[in-house]
Amino acid sequence: MRVLILGGTTEASAIARALAGHPAFEPVLSLAGRTATPMAQPIPVRIGGFGGAAGLTDYLCQERIAALIDATHPFAARIKANASRAATAAGVKRLCVLRPPWCPLPGDDWRMVDTMGQAFAALGPTPRRAFLTVGQQELDPFGPPHRYLIRSVDPPPNPPRGAMVITARGPFVEAAERALMLEHGIDMLVTKNSGGAATAAKLAAARVLGLPVIMVARPPPPAGETVATADEALDWLAHQAGLPCWRGV
Ligand code: NAP
Repeated sequence: MRVLILGGTTEASAIARALAGHPAFEPVLSLAGRTATPMAQPIPVRIGGFGGAAGLTDYLCQERIAALIDATHPFAARIKANASRAATAAGVKRLCVLRPPWCPLPGDDWRMVDTMGQAFAALGPTPRRAFLTVGQQELDPFGPPHRYLIRSVDPPPNPPRGAMVITARGPFVEAAERALMLEHGIDMLVTKNSGGAATAAKLAAARVLGLPVIMVARPPPPAGETVATADEALDWLAHQAGLPCWRGV
């Protein structure tokens, strides 16, 4: 069975590792090409956009894809909508892998917002030293009077003037996150509600330090069959291929 995995997430990489070398599947992992040095993968990888829903429909047909796993990031709304339209148009089974969002725990001080513009406004009028972990593409709303520590996988093309940029890829641990925030005198954390374990340590560090967190909510989830984990996606694939559940394959 030819399988297209739309990736760029830990879940997509886990599915790719599990399918590598499996005699029942011929998987391809698709990446948008956002990071300069993507992690090595044990299955064939294609990189770059398809040219919208129509381009993805053509790809699914030409490559005789039988199952599409959309394991893109919870905030990657455009590719999710394209995947939904293309799978319908090409008559291909599709599954979304969407990890659960983070939820506040006792001791957390979260301020929920819907957009990056609202996140900037939530920093307030008093100059702050904010830790921005919102990726490299959505920094435009952020500017004076605050100072920023920005962390992203690759350096952002247009960081706010005077911002300090560090590049790093998770997973991160709480003690190191706390040390980083103390070292830079951080008094607010700004993050997207990405969910997942790899980048959750900053939330634990903010809790311990008593720092407010500006939490940007996710876009609405896509319609259609959705699971929360890579293991559930593998069970779904096994079912599509007429095999027993994944751990029995
Ligand atoms: P997006 O806004 O939903 O997608 C923009 C365009 O990028 C899509 O229309 C598509 O171009 C192309 N694209 C996106 N994902 C692709 C994939 N896996 N394979 C091939 N083309 C893809 O997505 P985004 O927010 O820019 O995210 C891009 C990638 O980074 C995704 O793979 C996502 O999983 C990963 N990522 C995103 C975030 C985030 O916060 N957004 C965080 C971590 C990782 P065409 O229309 O030309 O096909």
